[in-house]
Amino acid sequence: MVTEGATLNSFASEMRLICPNLINTIVFIGNEEPYLKAEGAVALDAEYEGVRLVARFDLEIIVPSSFPCDIPRVCLCDSSLSEVYPHASEGDGELCLGVTGDILMRLASTTSPISTFLIEILRDNLYSVEYYRRYHAMPFGDRSHCSQGVLEHYVEFFDTNAGPSVVNLIRSSLGLVSYGRNHKCPCGSGKKALDCHGKAIERLKREVPREMLRRDYVQVLDSLGMTQAILAKDAARAKLRDHNHRTSQRRQ
Ligand SMILES: [Zn+2]
Repeated sequence: MVTEGATLNSFASEMRLICPNLINTIVFIGNEEPYLKAEGAVALDAEYEGVRLVARFDLEIIVPSSFPCDIPRVCLCDSSLSEVYPHASEGDGELCLGVTGDILMRLASTTSPISTFLIEILRDNLYSVEYYRRYHAMPFGDRSHCSQGVLEHYVEFFDTNAGPSVVNLIRSSLGLVSYGRNHKCPCGSGKKALDCHGKAIERLKREVPREMLRRDYVQVLDSLGMTQAILAKDAARAKLRDHNHRTSQRRQ
C-alpha cells in the first residue's frame, strides 16, 4: 500500500507540472486499491497534417495504482461532447482511448509513462474529439478504435494476415498454445519461431499483462466472427485436460 501510494504521489506531481489546471487527489476507500483522481481543464494545442486545433476540455481522469500495467480512465465531463463523439460512452462520457495492447506497449517503452500518457495518448484522443466536433469525421481514420481497429492493430504489429495466423500468434502470447523459440512458429509459416514471430510474441508477453491482452483477444475473435468457435475449442480442451487428469488419478 505504501509503495503504491508513493508511486501515485509521483504520478500526481508529474501530472501537476504537465496539466496545471487538473486538481488531483489520491483516493483511499477501505481495503480497495488507492487511485489517483484528477479533475479540471486540459488544454489542447496540436497540429496534424496542417490542421491546428486549439481547445479546452473538462475532464475527469482516474489513474489506477496498477498504472502503467493498466490504462487510466478518461471521461469527458461535457455531455454535449460525449453524446456526439462516437468513441465516448453515453453514460459517463468515458473515452475509448484505443487498442489496450498498443497503449500498454507505448507506456512500457518510456521512462515516464504518465507524461507519455498525457502528452501523447491523451493529446491524440482529445485531438480526435475536437476534430470530430468540427468536421464529423475521425482525423486518423477509425483505426485503433472498436474491434475492427483492434484486429488491424495486431495484423500490423505481427505483420501477418487477418485470419487464423494472427489469432494463433495472440494465443501463444497468452500462453493458450505452447510456444518455444526453436519450435515451429504459431503463424503457420513452417519456420522456427526464432526466425519468424518469436520476438514479437515475446515482446507482447513481456509488455502487456495477460488479463489486458485477453480483452484485445476477445475483440480480435469478435471481428473475425470466431468468438464462439474458438472459445468452445478452449472449453473442450480444458474438459479433455480434466478428463485425462481424472483418468490418470484413477490409475494410480
Ligand atoms: Zn511466424
